[in-house]
Amino acid sequence: MTIFAPTIDTNDSIRATWAEVDLAALRRNVRLIRGSVNGVPGAKPVGVMLVVKANAYGHGLVEVTRALADITDCVGVAVLEEGILLRREGINAPILVLGGVWGDQIPLFIKHDLILTASSVDRLSQIDEAARAMGRRAKAHLKIDTGMERVGVHYFNAHKLQEAALKCANVDILGIYSHFANADSEDLTHAKLQLERFQEVLAFYENRSIQRPTAHIANSAAMLRLPESLLDMVRPGLLLYGVYPSKHVPESIDVAPAMAWKSRVVYFKVVPPDHPVSYGSTWKSDHPVRMVTIPVGYGDGYLRRMSNSSQVIINNRKYQQVGTICMDQMMINIEWDSAYNGDEVILLGASADQRITVEDMAIWANTAPYEILTSINGRVPRVYTCQQSI
Ligand SMILES: *Cc1c(COP(=O)(O)O)cnc(C)c1O
Repeated sequence: MTIFAPTIDTNDSIRATWAEVDLAALRRNVRLIRGSVNGVPGAKPVGVMLVVKANAYGHGLVEVTRALADITDCVGVAVLEEGILLRREGINAPILVLGGVWGDQIPLFIKHDLILTASSVDRLSQIDEAARAMGRRAKAHLKIDTGMERVGVHYFNAHKLQEAALKCANVDILGIYSHFANADSEDLTHAKLQLERFQEVLAFYENRSIQRPTAHIANSAAMLRLPESLLDMVRPGLLLYGVYPSKHVPESIDVAPAMAWKSRVVYFKVVPPDHPVSYGSTWKSDHPVRMVTIPVGYGDGYLRRMSNSSQVIINNRKYQQVGTICMDQMMINIEWDSAYNGDEVILLGASADQRITVEDMAIWANTAPYEILTSINGRVPRVYTCQQSI
């Protein structure tokens, strides 16, 4: 199929900083992910829930979900508002809200046909009661805490929630899930313990000869490292966007990054020796250098803590960012090379021979790739491309 997405001709754009999202790359990543978890012929198919919380990890909640809705079994968002926005935009796919819920929100879930996370016996009975009062049926997945200590009933109390779920008259229990705290850490001992606890919780159904609801626990890292954790469905987030969670996760699927972040040179000057650059004078040169200014800064989500450690690509060469990154601008040392006003600058993405990845930026900022992507904020216009018909 062909996806028609709005495109802006960036040459005509008045904004010199933008992010390009390749929807075809995202669709290809989904196919690769689905193929990789369904490698065993004759085995029960493993479903794929696409996690699009936090503005689809910065890629654009509505555009990404719309482009992928027909190849996903379920869409995962973090908060109610994200789910409502998708419904208002006409997206009909099943949507699970992964985060916690408070009482007053429950009728809105039911009204918009969003799947609730039922994380305690009390919450489940509130959901049942709200559905009864509205004369509707609610949909829920049970949430079991196997070692994250976030939302969910503890694994050792899970049977109470499971028993209560069997008695709910107005709620369809469509799934049961848990979440790993350490699937991307070097040591998988804790992840394996969590999986073991979850398997014991699932034995509840087998012991009673009841068909279990769709069971899921694997995030991106677990998908690639713990094949026994695939169960009935996987929940990839970061991997969908072509990025790997940590260096401990094998890059065993050929997913490709879907986002490039670009800007343009807007100023050029020669900085003399001993003339420090930017706030706090954290950098200076002992020889004259050519310096260009780029209209992007931490006010766009280019993290300030990358100051003096990040690089950008100009004219197919990598250069060092120098001085403190400002809110709206930053300076690049091009030594004695040439660059002109309007030249394209790649903050994230590839030129003919050079490449800057989300993983590189995470190292420069001393953070996780997740924070790099979700930091790119609303001041950076997203431009949607679809390089090929798929
Ligand atoms: C964010 C999230 C995911 C996706 O995690 P990735 O590491 O990005 O794959 C899966 N499940 C839950 C409950 C989440 O909150």
